[in-house]
Amino acid sequence: MKYYNNILQTIGNTPLVKIHTMCKEVDALVLSKIETVNPGNSVKDRMALQMIDDAEADGRLKPGGTIIEGTSGNTGMGLALVALLRGYKLICVLSDKQSKEKMDILRAVGAEVHVCPTNVAPDDPRSYYSVSKTLADTTPNSWYVNQYDNPSNTKAHYLTTGPEIWEQTEGKITHFVVGVGTGGTISGVGKYLKEKNPNIKIWGIDTYGSVFKKYHETGIFDENEIYPYITEGIGEDILPKNVDFSVIDKFEKVTDKDAAVYQRKLAKEEGIFVGNSAGSAIKGILQLKEELTKDDVVVVLFHDHGSRYVGKMFNDDWMRERGFLDEEKTSAVDLIKDHAGKHLVTVTEENPVSQALLLMNQYGISQIPVVEGNKCVGSLSDNHLFAKLLDNSELKELPIKHVMEAPLPEVDGKASIEEVSKLFSNGATAVVVNYDGDKKHIITYQDVIRAIA
Ligand code: PMP
Repeated sequence: MKYYNNILQTIGNTPLVKIHTMCKEVDALVLSKIETVNPGNSVKDRMALQMIDDAEADGRLKPGGTIIEGTSGNTGMGLALVALLRGYKLICVLSDKQSKEKMDILRAVGAEVHVCPTNVAPDDPRSYYSVSKTLADTTPNSWYVNQYDNPSNTKAHYLTTGPEIWEQTEGKITHFVVGVGTGGTISGVGKYLKEKNPNIKIWGIDTYGSVFKKYHETGIFDENEIYPYITEGIGEDILPKNVDFSVIDKFEKVTDKDAAVYQRKLAKEEGIFVGNSAGSAIKGILQLKEELTKDDVVVVLFHDHGSRYVGKMFNDDWMRERGFLDEEKTSAVDLIKDHAGKHLVTVTEENPVSQALLLMNQYGISQIPVVEGNKCVGSLSDNHLFAKLLDNSELKELPIKHVMEAPLPEVDGKASIEEVSKLFSNGATAVVVNYDGDKKHIITYQDVIRAIA
């Protein structure tokens, strides 16, 4: 019989698959290392196992202990598998930009999940770096993994991923391309490959909003490079010890939009259903295609599985809301596609002004049509209401008809975007669009800007 003794034995030995159509314009042979077939569906199983093995070996992790880690989800999954098989408790600290799927998956394999705000500085006590450290300091018999600075992270890739790639390409690899987060993957694989052949180029994929590329090129840690971004798993606002800049030949930045668009292309055009950083990595190769020639053998590593992104990059509404879907917008009805499913908030002439204020507040909107049946008879805007209320705060309890303004201009769904824009340049604060028979919706200035930007 041929079987494994437990799931951990299935980690590693992942396949190398040629990119079928997406790299046609690249002269080189492009092969992808599909890490999604690891039991936790990501490359991170490798380093999770190595980090725990090493911590057990030198006594940092003791029987019955609690493992604590700040993780974007994939490392957590790897740690969870090892923890549950070896009888440890696992606490994962995540930032709130991580997909809900990742959080639910971690809970499914027994981890306790803490969610922290993304947009705070690393040394802010609410940051996921700080919360992880505090939990580690206050939980008895605990071990803080710290994948950023833990050398076992890089070691896992030096001992397994690097040798696999070398053997699978029979030493013919010329370029290794991969997204960089903690740096473990690129540094471990890069070190191994450079030792085998120092001419192999190691290219790191970075994202806009991260410090890596500039630091690599100039030695300057530039805080101005740091801002929130959408791409998951890669880029940092710190310099993790696991990033060995000396084995990296070049960093290439890929935009959030391209990462998402190329992640979807990998699924649609290659049948390779992988994560967001894979989209960045494949796009990075296309951006660098001029540097590749026909004898080159490029290996790109795809970190994790697409299922973790079904509520985000693989969801059309999510993509549309961020302007990531290149749908041609030509008519008024195209402008409201991403909120057509939401009901139009309206008031009637007889409703009290306080009702309009409540709705504006609740839905975060700045104008409301006043309707009678299906007819717009007036409108209210927050600026106008504010000015009126400053004059007389008792207006709040009066019927809306006493303060309402003229109805918003209306257009048919088929009206052109130019027609709609003209109404805004003539001073309209919003425009009502009539479509699908008797449906109405509101077009805001932001909707028009998004369409023409
Ligand atoms: N992609 C994804 C989806 C990840 O979770 C990570 C880990 N943060 C990376 C890429 C980057 O890998 P590494 O941490 O080894 O640099």
